[in-house]
Amino acid sequence: MSQNTFFGGFAITTNIGVMFLFVSLNLMNCYMEFLPVEIDRYSTELTKAEDPVLADLNRETWAKVLRPRMLSGHMQGKILQTFSYMIKPENVLEIGTYTGYSAICLAAGMKENGQLISIDINDEITHIAQKYAEASGNADKIKLLVGDAREIISTLTNEWDLVFIDADKENYGLYFDMVFDKVKPGGFIIADNVLWSGKVVFDEGKMDEETKSLVDFNLKIKDDERVDNVLMPVRDGLMVIRKK
Ligand code: SAH
Ligand code: CA
Repeated sequence: MSQNTFFGGFAITTNIGVMFLFVSLNLMNCYMEFLPVEIDRYSTELTKAEDPVLADLNRETWAKVLRPRMLSGHMQGKILQTFSYMIKPENVLEIGTYTGYSAICLAAGMKENGQLISIDINDEITHIAQKYAEASGNADKIKLLVGDAREIISTLTNEWDLVFIDADKENYGLYFDMVFDKVKPGGFIIADNVLWSGKVVFDEGKMDEETKSLVDFNLKIKDDERVDNVLMPVRDGLMVIRKK
């Protein structure tokens, strides 16, 4: 092999290596963050610090609970909290409590006599959600129900000002249909993770079942004349829906 061929081959191999690294980093980036890292950092720094109770809950979840990335976290929590202060809801339904982070945020701006009902099928983490609901000072407003949301929702008679859908992605459409008649006119339904780490823009053949369900859900909302909506590209995508 001449020296030129050797170095040519080396350069090609190195280029392929660099390209692979670049593509992998971009894919990883797309799974974790949508904003450039420095813009994300700046936005976080210029937002009020995480409430100490929520920071403790965040830490305990990451230390002890499986799949801690499911927790809303500081920025999304702040956004949900802000929505709650803006809407001042009386009745809130959350589908998918996990360790209670979003429930505590959504309860922040509720009316004095308000109630937030949060459902989760996993009874192994309810004690954490309960402990932090108490620490947040809003435990009297937060009611945790354990069981399958598909069964529990139909037993609830409240009229909702705000519904947060954040459980199994395959059932988002079903949850929307189940709650719709019970949402007050002018009330909101917010669904989390509707960008599903960016997978909603993959070729259909490469989509898993959860991604397909979320794509169907997003189209269903866009086509529904009874609602107004905006897909906010915040974190993993928040579909914010207002019932007309
Ligand atoms: N809202 C939380 C995260 C929820 S993670 C936060 O932002 O911090 C999704 C939760 O949905 C999990 O805890 C899971 O147990 C729950 N879940 C999944 N399928 C469910 C079902 N059919 N009924 C009720 N909860 C369900
Ligand atoms: Ca979520």
